Amino acid sequence: MNCKAQMMKKCCNFFTQENRFNTSGILKFRMIYFNGIGVFLMSAILFSCAKENKSDKKYLTENVIIVVMDGPRYSETWGDSTHQYIPRMANDMAQKGGIHTSFYNEGVTYTMPGHTAITTGIYQEINNGGGEMPLSPSIFQTWRKFTNNPAVDTQIIASKDKLEVLSNCIDPSWRDLYQPYTDCGVNGLGTGYRKDSITFLNTMNALVVDKPKLLLVNFRAPDSNGHNNDWEGYLQAIKDVDQYIFELFNFIEQDAYYKDKTTFFVTNDHGRHLDTVADGFKSHGDSCEGCKHINLFSYGPDFNTDVIYSTRRDLLDISATIEELLYFPEKRSTGNLMEELLLER
Ligand SMILES: [Zn+2]
Ligand SMILES: [Zn+2]
Repeated sequence: MNCKAQMMKKCCNFFTQENRFNTSGILKFRMIYFNGIGVFLMSAILFSCAKENKSDKKYLTENVIIVVMDGPRYSETWGDSTHQYIPRMANDMAQKGGIHTSFYNEGVTYTMPGHTAITTGIYQEINNGGGEMPLSPSIFQTWRKFTNNPAVDTQIIASKDKLEVLSNCIDPSWRDLYQPYTDCGVNGLGTGYRKDSITFLNTMNALVVDKPKLLLVNFRAPDSNGHNNDWEGYLQAIKDVDQYIFELFNFIEQDAYYKDKTTFFVTNDHGRHLDTVADGFKSHGDSCEGCKHINLFSYGPDFNTDVIYSTRRDLLDISATIEELLYFPEKRSTGNLMEELLLER
């Protein structure tokens, strides 16, 4: 029996006892007097129960934003001690959050499987061209079902059109239900990729106008320039995305709606081959260290600041941690809560 139910029972017993003696005037007076005390006690108890329930909610996170930088290697991002290609994250963001030095994609190291692992908490060998939906519902679908919030509160904004398939799943009890709003590629699935600068502007616009509470953003240029075998373009794209990420972060830190209530993750779907594997940085998709070892930056009102974590973690642990922070009643992620991130309260 919970606190409220226990106290209601005590109050009811109290009234019942007094009512047994309500034939005499004195006892009637006592009944009114004690009823008054009873009402006062019940109010005080309900108030204290409400306070207790409120304090049961130990997490301050109300919104979660995941930004995916598509396809940089660890060696050009946090694994480079100079952090020359991610100066904004290294100089302006790192001390406000945490960096995992041992974060991995333990599944298939392509874009669709990597993103599917992030959004469903399950590794699946999903088609990489956008021709197949995830098997299981995403955190967007399960969160919408739980909150009854409108689609616009959950959004997928991506430079790659194929990522639109993350908004739905094959599971017949979830298919076509509780889907997030999507803004992917030129104009949705099958229309091609668009520039990250458009994705950035659309994301800023969504943050200002729609105020999504659960948001995934994908920036594609490091991956695309890598596939083009354009080393300088690949490095420049990492720098450009670093700047976009910083501007999104800056907005979250200052906006009255998001400030102090928003958890912010920056990760990637996969890395790229080590220089000694196949065609090096141009491609990815196997289980070499270059493809599997990726990044995680974490920031939020429930997280430690200025910490470098060496705990080995992987993509599934992002959704498991979100399910915990947002009190999902139904936890579907097969990952683990990243307890090391949490502030001790
Ligand atoms: Zn790729
Ligand atoms: Zn590889």
